[in-house]
Amino acid sequence: MPLLEYEKRLNELETFSSFLGADLIIEEPDVKKWSSETLPYKDLGERSERCWACYEHRMMITYQKAKEYGFNTVATSLTISPHKDAVKVNEIGVKLQKEYGIEYLVSDFKKNDGFKKSLEISRKMNFYRQNYCGCIYSKKEREAAVRSRPA
Ligand code: SF4
Repeated sequence: MPLLEYEKRLNELETFSSFLGADLIIEEPDVKKWSSETLPYKDLGERSERCWACYEHRMMITYQKAKEYGFNTVATSLTISPHKDAVKVNEIGVKLQKEYGIEYLVSDFKKNDGFKKSLEISRKMNFYRQNYCGCIYSKKEREAAVRSRPA
């Protein structure tokens, strides 16, 4: 993720965590590892093997942290987004649950107006809303889609 974008999103996360009074554990992104895991699929677009590798990369880090801190359940906010494949996210979560022996909370947070509610919170808190998923590939895909729109 471009550095400025990362900082913007992290800043919003810190604001929201402090609003909730929740502790936040920040793990520095391992860009090299992420790049090598997603590189073979870089041109496949969103909701493809590229994203499955990305979900797994991120959720594995969460599991490693859960183990380190002795948490007994792991959940992910990834399923709030309509752009994410909740079935795939949960499949990876269940796999990691077995590997790490830590419960995974199967979810599809976008359901029951979950996504709508997240937009309401975002508006109320005046949060920055990104217009692409996060990686440089998705940024380029978004820019290409905007360029190809009829004027
Ligand atoms: S940042 Fe988003 S678009 Fe890019 S690989 Fe990860 S899930 Fe896919």
